[in-house]
Amino acid sequence: MAKKPTSTNRTTIPATAGKSDATHIKGSDPVAPLERAEAKPAAKASPKPRPPAEEKPATLQSESASVTPRTPAPVAAPASAKEVLKSPSQPDAAPAQPQSVHVVEPLPVGTHAPDEEPAHQPRPNLFIVHITPEMAPVAKVGGLADVVFGLSQELAIRGNHVEIILPKYDNMRYDHIYNLHVDFQDLFVPWFDGTIHCTVYFGLVHDRKCFFIEPHSQDDYFNRGSIYGFQDDVMRFAFFSRAAMEFLWKANKHPDIIHCHDWQTALVPVYLYEFYQRIGMTHPRVCLTIHNYQHQGVIGGELLRATGLHDPQRYFDYNRLRDNYHQHALNLLKGGIVYANFVTTVSPRYAFETKDGGQGFGLEPTLHTHHIKYGGVVNGIDYGVWNPEVDGYIPTRYGIDSIDGKYDNKRALRDRLMLAHNEKPIVAFIGRLDPQKGLDLLRHAIFFALERGAQFVLLGSSPDQAINADFWGLKNMLNESQDCHLEIGFDEELSHLIYAGADMMLVPSRFEPCGLTQLIALRYGTIPVVRSVGGLADTVFDMDNSDLPLQERNGYVFENYDHPGLEYALGRAMACYSDHPDRYREMIKNAMRYDYSWNLPGQDYLNIYDFIREK
Ligand code: ADP
Repeated sequence: MAKKPTSTNRTTIPATAGKSDATHIKGSDPVAPLERAEAKPAAKASPKPRPPAEEKPATLQSESASVTPRTPAPVAAPASAKEVLKSPSQPDAAPAQPQSVHVVEPLPVGTHAPDEEPAHQPRPNLFIVHITPEMAPVAKVGGLADVVFGLSQELAIRGNHVEIILPKYDNMRYDHIYNLHVDFQDLFVPWFDGTIHCTVYFGLVHDRKCFFIEPHSQDDYFNRGSIYGFQDDVMRFAFFSRAAMEFLWKANKHPDIIHCHDWQTALVPVYLYEFYQRIGMTHPRVCLTIHNYQHQGVIGGELLRATGLHDPQRYFDYNRLRDNYHQHALNLLKGGIVYANFVTTVSPRYAFETKDGGQGFGLEPTLHTHHIKYGGVVNGIDYGVWNPEVDGYIPTRYGIDSIDGKYDNKRALRDRLMLAHNEKPIVAFIGRLDPQKGLDLLRHAIFFALERGAQFVLLGSSPDQAINADFWGLKNMLNESQDCHLEIGFDEELSHLIYAGADMMLVPSRFEPCGLTQLIALRYGTIPVVRSVGGLADTVFDMDNSDLPLQERNGYVFENYDHPGLEYALGRAMACYSDHPDRYREMIKNAMRYDYSWNLPGQDYLNIYDFIREK
């Protein structure tokens, strides 16, 4: 298998954790001790890679212990999450043992520092529960859905027991759920002054063990025809989070790790530490992954009445859930950051940008307070789905040793979209038509590419009708062009053909937490042309301006969000395609050689779980 270069910015998470002898943490308050927690001095970490259930290249295993951040200011490594959690008033808590966890110094792939432990140390398997509002393909709005789908399988392949809890939406892809049946008939979930009766279903989604919670109430929280977009969204997901925790408790499930995602399930650690730990659920530890800071779940005091968090003084405290801007509002994502045992976001650069680069949408001070338990892990993509060697949606399969097959797909793409067959490169864009994605630069790029002798293909849609209308106008304007096709809509199948048939993939985002399109494009040998933000900066390395060796450069990058920036990167990509085909072909190979599967991030998350879990 191809190996990924060492010098990428894949993670700022510790390779593994020191262990403490801490006993059960009962009734602990994560807030007060956290304020006192100090980062420990860095010392050598001892990587404890697990033997994978499937054969994994040893070099990749060991690399997870040797990644070093390239970001200007790496996120500080955690000191001791257990110490963070421990309340000083807790009589039965053992004194915290000194722990030493840090981002290790860079080592060449496949090597370890002399004092590190050998690579194949056995480790116990874990019981991991994801609580999530989305999972591909049954309930997908964005990349979060793909992450839960891919990560859960990677964790299971490595021998862990993984379960996933979702709402039972009426608009799910039920055709992807196997053997759906009632698992827990009568779950009564506290809500306002009473309870809501729920039924919990179980089914397999492509072998993943999934529980679906269906509430029976006149609010009909999840029978709305779509996943989001309702005025009571915050209440809906505050309820779901409570129901998921109540289900774990009543079903007598005591996972080692609860992994929750985004603001929708950020109340999970709050419920755990405020309710369930006190009545005996002392075992689980919580990891919160934030996929995008733009949405945080902000709501007024009615949340407290609904959830039973009946202490306004406590929860409106600035150190707990009070929104950093609005003193009469509560912020679910902030609560999650405060209460979770570890918080990740989806790339090291985005971790830096959110904490120190003004991209935290107001949560910067909270991230600073909790920096010792915060870091970034670049998402993987599912190579079972995104792999040109086996992709059933493309007419010709190809790999790094048969790149010419890519040009059959280019012809097929042109046939399908009625584009001219000529010598021009195809520049593509696939994504949500959201301002985050850099829509004004995208528009400019279409005209720039056409003027400079390229073809352009766009596949995208927006829930915002004004934006859709704008792109429909553009489509009509360019309708006569045989070098341009804009497809306004969502089409998974067509996206595969575009990834395979295009020459370049444009991602001009204003901000991009991780980005999956560039990762998929790399896999298909489609050269990414990206703005240097978030996960794009961590995964795409400029052909002309990089300190990486030539064979590790895989795309074109621009810094400034403006027309000259975009033209600089796209212009160079097009020039290389036309003027230096051999060089371009080498770049395609470089791109395809990268490993952005779940293999490495899977190990990173296990390291985090090990770090926070109770012995
Ligand atoms: P985000 O999560 O911000 O939407 P990502 O880059 O993380 O962006 O993930 C986008 C995913 O959705 C990619 O897999 C991309 O191929 C897919 N996608 C986006 N828009 C479309 C569309 N219109 N049709 C098909 N797939 C799409």
